[in-house]
Amino acid sequence: MSELPPCPDRELMLELSETRRRFHRTPELSWTEYLTTARLCQELEALGYSIEWGEALYRQPPGNPPDSDTDRAAWQRAERTLGANNRYLSGMRGNRTGLVATLEGNGPGRVFGFRFDIDALPINESLDAGHEPAARGFASEHAGIMHACGHDGHLTIGLGLARRLAARRERWGGRVHLFFQPAEEVAGGGAVFAGLPQLAEVERFLTLHLGILDRYRIVFDATWIAARIYDVVFRGRASHAGNAPQDGRNALLAACQAVQGLYALPRHSGGMSRVNVGRFRSDNAQNVIADEVRLRYEVRGADNAICDFMAAAAEQVLDGAARMNAVTWERSVFAEFSSYPNSRDLAESVAATARALGLPEALLQDSFLVSASEDAGFLIQRVREQGGQATHLILGSPVGGGHHSPTFDFDEELLGWGVLLFESLVLDKP
Ligand SMILES: [Zn+2]
Ligand SMILES: [Zn+2]
Repeated sequence: MSELPPCPDRELMLELSETRRRFHRTPELSWTEYLTTARLCQELEALGYSIEWGEALYRQPPGNPPDSDTDRAAWQRAERTLGANNRYLSGMRGNRTGLVATLEGNGPGRVFGFRFDIDALPINESLDAGHEPAARGFASEHAGIMHACGHDGHLTIGLGLARRLAARRERWGGRVHLFFQPAEEVAGGGAVFAGLPQLAEVERFLTLHLGILDRYRIVFDATWIAARIYDVVFRGRASHAGNAPQDGRNALLAACQAVQGLYALPRHSGGMSRVNVGRFRSDNAQNVIADEVRLRYEVRGADNAICDFMAAAAEQVLDGAARMNAVTWERSVFAEFSSYPNSRDLAESVAATARALGLPEALLQDSFLVSASEDAGFLIQRVREQGGQATHLILGSPVGGGHHSPTFDFDEELLGWGVLLFESLVLDKP
């Protein structure tokens, strides 16, 4: 395995490591990033950024917020820490989390946009001595919640970049928007942020993910597969299973046949695809023909077209299963992840910047298709459709027990490299 050289700026590394560990201790679930958003707002405003946060960013409430108990617990925790009258917190009612921070450079220049996702996962962090956050005393202090995907690192790179750009304002022109996006893990924040007016003027858009590859590698053009996640309900008619089965309309049988059919979907030669049923629920007595079943499934595809093909084929299966059993069915979108190709020009200029910074050739990789989904695709699509350039990077490192596991971790040296890479792109005036 090629090794990552240590980030040459040790002072920067110390500061980033402290920031990352501070945020790692206080993870928050998707749509409840109250404390995280408030802390980011406070520091960015102090650095001289103009910020827009919370309610100002939303035209409608988030579509897939957590249950009210989970939300209340997160809000109360934030209130205890920040005080009930905190102005940042009071601007985030109704799960309207996240912020955009904007800074003007010195004179004319390009408009850059950088996106950092900030949410964590419902996972109990490992306290095993082999897990670095536990061994070094910065494991999660929020029971049952963990930064197990590296988004604490992403937001740290965002803050590190913000500090550097504010301190070197005479060395760059144009404008920089830093998008601290909530709710990536449930695919919700990306679609909201793609509609922001700040994004509409972005000419160069970059985002990144830490880890992913489980080895040291910097990828300049990473694409993620598309995904569509649906909730389905089958409705039939209840009847006595012994006395009058002929009067029932069996929603449970329809749903079971639908699940079998989903896993047997034909595939597309254009690229990889996936299907999975992750939830299935029917509360019913053993002597009643079941009249209601709910399930949640997802389809994925290497690009949006393949994903759409899978979604349409799945719809046929659900419809067929319902017809076979004379029941009705309805489907609603739970979440969507778009996949959109990156700009080659921008990927190549990031690669040139990485070489200029002295990152070894053996670590550099041009492109990679990730078998997972990322809602930054919506922002990339928006920027490219308006004529801008956009790309998604991977800063790869070994990832402990893997993404979304209780022992996930990454190499903090990547934080320093991430800041230097993004900063150089802005300082390098064309
Ligand atoms: Zn994740
Ligand atoms: Zn992630």
